[in-house]
Amino acid sequence: MKKPTVGATVHYVSYGTPGGEYAKQCRAAIVTEVRHDGPDLHAPVLSLAVLNPTGMFFNQDVTCSKAHDGGTWHWPEGG
Ligand SMILES: [Zn+2]
Repeated sequence: MKKPTVGATVHYVSYGTPGGEYAKQCRAAIVTEVRHDGPDLHAPVLSLAVLNPTGMFFNQDVTCSKAHDGGTWHWPEGG
């Protein structure tokens, strides 16, 4: 798996609502900072600018999860 760098586009998984009105969704996110290496050197902890259809927000300390947990990032290919 390639290592993300500043400016790369990854997926951020939005949290669904507790009642299930909204499911988790993949959102486009631009890497704004590589915070530090996580346990997996190819899956560092990132800061992201997350692009939602209705707005943009900034997030720090986002960890990688291939399981697509809410609040994590992954490569769009699913890697
Ligand atoms: Zn995705």
